[in-house]
Amino acid sequence: RAKAERKGGFCRFEGWMDRTLADRRALERDLRLAVERRELEVFFQPQFACDSLRVVGFEALIRWRHPERGFVSPGVFIPLAEECGLIVPIGRMVLEQSCTLAAGWQPRCRVAVNLSPVQFRDTGLLPLLSEILHRTGLPAALLELEVTEGVLIKDEDQALATLRSLKDLGVHIALDDFGTGYSSLSYLRRFPFDGLKIDKCFVQAQQQDSGTRTILEAVLTMSQRLNLRVVAEGVETQEQLAMLREQGCTELQGFLLGRPMPAHEVPDFLARVTVEMAGREGGRHLRL
Ligand code: C2E
Ligand code: MG
Ligand code: MG
Ligand code: MG
Repeated sequence: RAKAERKGGFCRFEGWMDRTLADRRALERDLRLAVERRELEVFFQPQFACDSLRVVGFEALIRWRHPERGFVSPGVFIPLAEECGLIVPIGRMVLEQSCTLAAGWQPRCRVAVNLSPVQFRDTGLLPLLSEILHRTGLPAALLELEVTEGVLIKDEDQALATLRSLKDLGVHIALDDFGTGYSSLSYLRRFPFDGLKIDKCFVQAQQQDSGTRTILEAVLTMSQRLNLRVVAEGVETQEQLAMLREQGCTELQGFLLGRPMPAHEVPDFLARVTVEMAGREGGRHLRL
């Protein structure tokens, strides 16, 4: 069949496909090496209380500095890592580093770690988490796991069971990238989330688009009723900040307030800013 296609003039298309496949293979091989050589590094982006602008925590974001390719975006290599199974060791590394570092931060604050659907469905996740929390001494209430709706769609009952056992460990769970994909408002009631993160395209569209603003207002009103914390992502302008405040958003994350920073910069950063006391969250007191 390939021959016929070549005769039919599909050469260029085929060549392009081969190259892409070769590129993918090369990237996959490099990613495997990167894991072994520890070229992957976790950065931390601060999250702020919307009203006081105090720091409430950080989101762990992975970075890959390739010796020749330079910086490779997680948007590129995370999907690849999910396909080839490398996400499990990579995810374990991110969890380990994040909990170890956060256990030493002064004052204490929350760390949020992204969890891919592959990790979420891995039966090793729960034992891994309890082992890491125990070993690092990080109070479970200071770890937030960010999941996307991708974990919910395949098998809702299984997802609910996993979320419940995660909650039993004491960790918090946020629904990430809300407003993209198939995010359904009913998810917020059906699943035991502590918070949701409004995707940056949503945050950034509200300024120009009154329809988006209306939906955002509805989501925020409903979240308050459901006692859910709402983090707005991708806040880049004062106008966005002002609008989110007015609408009753809980927390903010974005380049306006702070970019992702290497782990070694976090202690100095924490010493310079005011941190919202850990142990108080969404008005409820947590036992640490
Ligand atoms: P995400 O979890 O939604 O993370 C937020 C993304 O928005 C990050 O991109 C962050 O750098 C970016 N961001 C934050 N504030 C702003 C802003 O004001 N403007 C703009 N334009 N962007 C902003 P990043 O670090 O490139 O990560 C992309 C995605 O890769 C993440 O989206 C997450 O889905 C995934 N990812 C990153 N680290 C990990 C990880 O350790 N594990 C897993 N499974 N996924 C990860
Ligand atoms: Mg996230
Ligand atoms: Mg997000
Ligand atoms: Mg995203």
